[in-house]
Amino acid sequence: MIPDFNKPLPSGYSNKGAGGRWTAGPAPQAQMSPSSGPEARVERLEKLAFGTVYPEHDVEARLDHLEKEIFGSTSQGSVEQRLSRLEQKLGGQGAFQSNAGKTDSIGSGAESASIVARIPYDRQAGDYFDKIKRFPGNTVARWTNFPVKVRIPEETPSQWKLSLNEAIENWSRYIPLTLAERAEAADVEVSWVNHLNPRLLGVTRLTAFNGNLKVRIYLLRPTYYVEQLSENALGGIFQHELGHGLGLFGHSDQNGDIMYLTELSAEGKVTSKNMKRPSERDLNTLRRVYETSPLPRGFSTIKPMEWS
Ligand SMILES: [Zn+2]
Repeated sequence: MIPDFNKPLPSGYSNKGAGGRWTAGPAPQAQMSPSSGPEARVERLEKLAFGTVYPEHDVEARLDHLEKEIFGSTSQGSVEQRLSRLEQKLGGQGAFQSNAGKTDSIGSGAESASIVARIPYDRQAGDYFDKIKRFPGNTVARWTNFPVKVRIPEETPSQWKLSLNEAIENWSRYIPLTLAERAEAADVEVSWVNHLNPRLLGVTRLTAFNGNLKVRIYLLRPTYYVEQLSENALGGIFQHELGHGLGLFGHSDQNGDIMYLTELSAEGKVTSKNMKRPSERDLNTLRRVYETSPLPRGFSTIKPMEWS
């Protein structure tokens, strides 16, 4: 099932573009940092679980963090035992595999199934899957290669970055996300803009080419409209837009869901300091999206589609 599971990723790997395939590159530092060591394994697990890494902490603390996230509590045991347990739990997902050898990874079953398994489904809560945009063949626009690469503009002030990162972390519990490196193509590209249509604070634009998605998220720069948009609201706005970008191309009709449209209306001023987590209904809907077939391979959008 998972032939590459115990093999390290090629140390010069990079993820190229919207199709998101891992390909081997030159490995100049191979001797310096053996990619099968505990640190590298923790790093891989962190990318998968959180979409980011925490190299400033020691391995044991990072294992505690991972175990709390994945199992709900920390465990005893050797570093090796703890790593193996986490890898078994998260195994078979994108970050552990090299996609380079795959002839066709679009919609390939194993990876999508393991994504679905990450997303809880609450039978009582219901969902708004009927509000999600459908494409030919009753498909949905969703990702098929993971982690999904997100790029935040380099010039983003550090305070804003913290808010955006929190939103990324919240979603990456369910859909593996990672920040794109400076030189590589991103799947989800974030930009700051000084103007959007009146009352909009963020816009997500979707294009598809031959079944591959490209998402751009435009966020209104907080300092421009000071009265309407407090910096504190940024994270919540981005979390909503990123929800679109990860496949929730539609809006909830219930307040309380982060994909509820009027949460973002500047009319009522966005002042909320606490970023809400995705609700059960948001997650139920996300899960149904990832249980649904992705865009047909030949499908391209005639013009970009937008959600705000
Ligand atoms: Zn929206």
